[in-house]
Amino acid sequence: MGLPTMTNSPTKSWRHGECHCGEVGFAVNLPDSVVALSCNCSICAKTGFIHLIVEKDDFKIERGAESLTTYTFGTHEAKHLFCSKCGVKSFYVPRSHPDGWSVNLRALDADADLQLRFEEFDGANWEKNVSKINPELAQPGANDA
Ligand SMILES: [Zn+2]
Repeated sequence: MGLPTMTNSPTKSWRHGECHCGEVGFAVNLPDSVVALSCNCSICAKTGFIHLIVEKDDFKIERGAESLTTYTFGTHEAKHLFCSKCGVKSFYVPRSHPDGWSVNLRALDADADLQLRFEEFDGANWEKNVSKINPELAQPGANDA
């Protein structure tokens, strides 16, 4: 898997985060230097979500799973999870990485101490661009238009 956060960063450590009210807590295993994706798709633009995409084994919900509500739209592939008490979306299952997670950089604890490289993802044109963040999901005919 060519996950952007994994490149050239063998050493990882667990960082913690939570939603605004603290009901939902999570941990994510990250290298010290990560790529943070800013996306312009319809939902990321409204939530201000900044993506740290990780593999399944590098993420765990530590508390409050029962307080999560799932929202889906469009293809219903992405599972948008938010705290039913405070409404914050701290992480979700992205359409680009249905076997992984996207963690919201903004929900990480302030002491997470990460070196960040911000990149833009043109999620408004998802089919044309998904191969940039997951080569396995290149869409047939995406470059035909
Ligand atoms: Zn909450």
